[in-house]
Amino acid sequence: MKVDETTFERKSAMLCFDFIEEILGTQGIKLKEAKFNGKSFQIHVEMKRKEHKCPVCEKATDWIHDYRTQRIKAGEANGYLLNIYYRKRRYKCQECGKQFYEENSFVGRYNE
Ligand SMILES: [Zn+2]
Repeated sequence: MKVDETTFERKSAMLCFDFIEEILGTQGIKLKEAKFNGKSFQIHVEMKRKEHKCPVCEKATDWIHDYRTQRIKAGEANGYLLNIYYRKRRYKCQECGKQFYEENSFVGRYNE
């Protein structure tokens, strides 16, 4: 039987996405978009929105100021390159106006 390689790859990619989504979900990370081009995965993620404490005045806020996308090379998944695009959120304190990046559970791990 002839195996359609493209279909096979696509299927295993889908399985990977499910797996990745599950893992990320447990860390408060939302999978926005996932692509597979036969060589590598492109995973677009962001943290779930949540209340943060202002680092200056300690007032709680979940007011979103803006986003920056950061590319993270995260090694390999099933022998394929894994590129994570993290849409990093910046909150703004409504009390004192301080802008600060959200806490995240993975950039430190991969980038420092
Ligand atoms: Zn503040």
